[in-house]
Amino acid sequence: MKIICIGRNYTEHAKELNNPVPKKPIFFMKPDTSLVRNNNPFYYPEHSSDVHYEAEIVLKISKKGRHISEKFASGYYKDITIGIDFTARDVQAECKKKGLPWEIAKAFDQSAPVGRFIHKETLDNHNSINFSLSINSDERQVGNTSNMIFSFNQIIAYVSKFITLKEGDLIFTGTPAGVGAIAINDHFEAYIEGEKLLDFVVK
Ligand code: MG
Repeated sequence: MKIICIGRNYTEHAKELNNPVPKKPIFFMKPDTSLVRNNNPFYYPEHSSDVHYEAEIVLKISKKGRHISEKFASGYYKDITIGIDFTARDVQAECKKKGLPWEIAKAFDQSAPVGRFIHKETLDNHNSINFSLSINSDERQVGNTSNMIFSFNQIIAYVSKFITLKEGDLIFTGTPAGVGAIAINDHFEAYIEGEKLLDFVVK
């Protein structure tokens, strides 16, 4: 399986990092080795001293598709959760400055913890999903998917023009404002509509 991540999908987050608001979805990928499941701990990587959290809604692709039209895209995912797109911000800044790829900053081992999946049908409104992240019981990020620049369906349609989506692939759909640095012993708790789906510590 593969993990596709959308960058700069919330205007306020693009602004907080002084990035332009994109006209088309921006995406990058993480390998399956970046996945962390079952609330296992995240180990602070040695190659960075400025790892940031980015809480994001994550879609699980439910069937294979390519060139999926926006109209049918909602048929290609059934389960969602919340995940963290861990980013070595210091390393990413170097990559950006030199025009280099981002993998070393984004795709390292354990850089993608994901929570327990829930069926999208359990949510009242797929276009307006509330989610949040608390660290050490302090609320750090609050988002609503109605504020995404590109909707779930637009993301699936766009990405599948270039890359075949397969059952089990994950799509991280972008983070709202409020990203920040993490520290060892931080306790992460992340929620969709008030239901805690992810709970782990940084070691
Ligand atoms: Mg992100």
